Amino acid sequence: MIDVLMNIKFTFFIVFFTVFFILEFFFSQRQTNKKLLRLFFHSLFAIFNTILMRIPGLFLVLPVLLISNEGNFGLLKMLDVNFIIQAIIGFLILDLSFYWLHRLNHTNDFLWRFHRVHHLDTQMDVTTSLRFHIVELLISSVLKTVLILSLGLPISVFIFYEIILSLSAQFHHSDIRLSDKADTVLSYFIVTPKYHTNHHTVSMYSRNANYSSIFTVWDNIFGSKKGANEVDRDYLGVNDRTKEFGFFINLKEPFVNK
Ligand SMILES: [Zn+2]
Ligand SMILES: [Zn+2]
Repeated sequence: MIDVLMNIKFTFFIVFFTVFFILEFFFSQRQTNKKLLRLFFHSLFAIFNTILMRIPGLFLVLPVLLISNEGNFGLLKMLDVNFIIQAIIGFLILDLSFYWLHRLNHTNDFLWRFHRVHHLDTQMDVTTSLRFHIVELLISSVLKTVLILSLGLPISVFIFYEIILSLSAQFHHSDIRLSDKADTVLSYFIVTPKYHTNHHTVSMYSRNANYSSIFTVWDNIFGSKKGANEVDRDYLGVNDRTKEFGFFINLKEPFVNK
């Protein structure tokens, strides 16, 4: 079953990535330039990360997922509710946990070194969703492992969450023009391109805020929903504008003393 679910996840990833990439040519908000260079450079990240993440995937996440799926332990199994309610609670706890990991990535100096590589991008489009430092992904694997075990998460719920997270990341990084009304209505519930653009501003006011990944409710509950003006939204990244491209420069960037 796990092979089938992983194939479904990969298919969703490729299909939606391609759809967003094509839509960006016709409905661009910012007219992102160097699109093919960006695709090539960020694909290098994706390939490198996918190959290396096979190791924790096979030896850490997958074994605990199988144990958790079969076992009779964890918070969800303790609740006397049906599978659908278990799935909803599990999904929301995963989304809430990754809200806090993202928040810590910005407020903890050590974690920021790695997450900063994502923010070194001076533009934002669907390819930005591929741009993560391998150490950040390893740390998130550890959190996933802890969550799977403590919740007693079923495999199907975990893979479903991974698919939705991946599609949400592609959508909210994409350079797609939505009407202001559509964006406003959607952002009451989910992270939209405009909402996540506020998070990618050089301006610290909106960058150190807007941490939600799927549902925006967490920013509302924990007081981290902050708007940005058009000027801020036109100036994305961090103050250092020199490291947008360069694979090895980005890989070693967190280890360079600043
Ligand atoms: Zn961030
Ligand atoms: Zn982002």
